[in-house]
Amino acid sequence: MGAQLAGLLAKLDIRGPRDLLLHLPLRYEDETRLTPIADVRPGFPAQVEGEVAACEVVLRPRRQLVVRIHDGSGVLVARWLNFYPSQQKQLAVGRRVRLFGEPRGGFFGYEMVHPRVRPVEQDEPLPDALTPVYPTTAGVGQATLRKLIDRALQSEHLDDPLPAEILGDLRLPGFAEALRALHHPAPDADPAALELREHPAWRRIKFEELLVQQMSLRRAYNARRARRAVPLPERGRLPRALLGALPFRPTGAQSRAAAEIAADLAAPHPMQRLLQGDVGSGKTLVAALAMLQAVDNGWQAVMMAPTEILAEQHWRKLSAWLAPLGIDVAWLSGSRRKRERETELERLRSGEVLLAVGTHALIEDPVTLPRLALAVVDEQHRFGVRQRLALREKGEENRRPHMLMMSATPIPRTLAMTHYADLDVSVLDELPPGRTPIRTRLVSDARRDEVVERVRQACLGGRQAYWVCPLIEESEALQLQTAVETFDALAEALSELRVGLVHGRLKADEKSAAMKAFSAGEIDVLVATTVIEVGVDVPNASLMVIEHAERFGLAQLHQLRGRVGRGSAESVCILIYAQPLSQTGRERLKVIYENTDGFEIARADLRIRGPGEFVGARQSGLPLLRYASLEEDGDLIEPARQLAERMLRDMPEATERLMQRWLGGREALLRA
Ligand code: ADP
Ligand code: MG
Repeated sequence: MGAQLAGLLAKLDIRGPRDLLLHLPLRYEDETRLTPIADVRPGFPAQVEGEVAACEVVLRPRRQLVVRIHDGSGVLVARWLNFYPSQQKQLAVGRRVRLFGEPRGGFFGYEMVHPRVRPVEQDEPLPDALTPVYPTTAGVGQATLRKLIDRALQSEHLDDPLPAEILGDLRLPGFAEALRALHHPAPDADPAALELREHPAWRRIKFEELLVQQMSLRRAYNARRARRAVPLPERGRLPRALLGALPFRPTGAQSRAAAEIAADLAAPHPMQRLLQGDVGSGKTLVAALAMLQAVDNGWQAVMMAPTEILAEQHWRKLSAWLAPLGIDVAWLSGSRRKRERETELERLRSGEVLLAVGTHALIEDPVTLPRLALAVVDEQHRFGVRQRLALREKGEENRRPHMLMMSATPIPRTLAMTHYADLDVSVLDELPPGRTPIRTRLVSDARRDEVVERVRQACLGGRQAYWVCPLIEESEALQLQTAVETFDALAEALSELRVGLVHGRLKADEKSAAMKAFSAGEIDVLVATTVIEVGVDVPNASLMVIEHAERFGLAQLHQLRGRVGRGSAESVCILIYAQPLSQTGRERLKVIYENTDGFEIARADLRIRGPGEFVGARQSGLPLLRYASLEEDGDLIEPARQLAERMLRDMPEATERLMQRWLGGREALLRA
């Protein structure tokens, strides 16, 4: 194989015969039948056979090869905008060819653009099976791929490492049989099952892929448990003191999660736990209890948050909770004055202060945490894998900190079992008592004035409101302008109220001043961009207005709505939308209107968007599944998980072969 071809194949992630085997068809084309030209229909791919009646290069409107084919029933035009002289020869007048393509209506009857051509003899037999079409890249033709794959099918040893009885239980074919069925469908194969990837051969390959994913996640999990961390035995003194001083009791879910975390922290290997809980479920308290377990043992703990606003809010809350216990919390953020920051850094370096809260300022160079034993990452999906790694590296080389990741974006069960299976998970499935459910209203923007009136009434009645500006993803400048204009308009319309503004371009101390004023009740209406999306907690705010709600994603809407409904007052979220709504826009608003449960919403989100963005947000370097679909093959995940555990334990050699087959040398990547 030439170096050039090898280079092109590498683009398709094909680095050897093994990768060729698993380079499976994108779809299939039915070349087993010929359609008389008179019977072709626009939009329905068809194969026709006939004689070339004319072949010419036309120069206008642009250079192209135009060919007319006739078969006795009619005439069809074929066009190529890019073509080689060899193609012209193949299509010389009088030649007999088969064309496969999608006909569309043209000026002179039906035409095909860039159909596949095959020169044929009179009465040449048709293939008796479906023709696979492979994903490819410019310069690698289908015929080349097919030839290479056929060669690999013959030369490679297609052993089957899966236990036969599992295949029997799941009614899946063997590996060799499955590959042959996919690369060379049998004449009687069900075309729909192949096309929809429901054929047992597809299921076999998808099962194997899920199995390998489970194996590599499981291995990463085991590797972590082999590393060392500072054991933080449960002493209970400080956590008990905090709970005793709080005006409320933890929910059952909070107690359960706290106990799971406490047990992990006591172990000599690093915890890697995801604390999942809907907005408002009280994750901060659970994190605080874990941090106190570190302090109880004389070690440091930090909490990292994605925005200044959130970091400051955490710092305030933790300080308020812990000051009475005589515990100081350092605060690191870009907004603090240089001298204040120096002091904080020194107090952390010397170990005088054991707790710190901050933004990514925490992972910057000057920060040293000689006794770091626990790192909490709030809204973990907002951070990239590198930032989380940097935080982990703040610990000493041979002493990894325990990691607690928190997220309010619930991960649907299938994703939790696959892409997140290397983590332990605690779930807060219960909201603190006394919350009244949020009512959601959908209002067309023609009725914006009524909404403004509603805000006035609520605020005159002593409540507070958020007003979220339309999202303008394309331009930050426009986003800013919109925010300022919205603020001006509302300040004028609501002249008897105090209206404030926060947006991403404000300096950190300005942002913080606005949030503080809102929190203290000195501002009635807070006009905001999505900087308030995560975590902000002002219980007296009971009205949330979101303009152009159709532009926001589901997770974002759910997060925004979660800013209200935190106190005892009845809360309302008004989603203002503009007509006409796109199909997805309509679908999303319907989901958010009908559901308040974050898990339901996440499931719907997964359905509407696919898993790409969820997993993309994790930025973990984990490849997406190539063939298995979490929605359609969810029933295979549990058996894959069970078999992975068993094979890792009892069948090391078969495990190795499988991982090699699917990952080659790429497994190192997955460990990041
Ligand atoms: P989230 O899970 O969204 O981060 P927070 O930790 O911000 O939620 O908690 C939301 C609000 O509920 C806070 O004001 C917090 O003090 C309060 N809270 C937490 N736990 C309880 C509880 N068990 N009972 C009553 N209120 C609680
Ligand atoms: Mg939070």
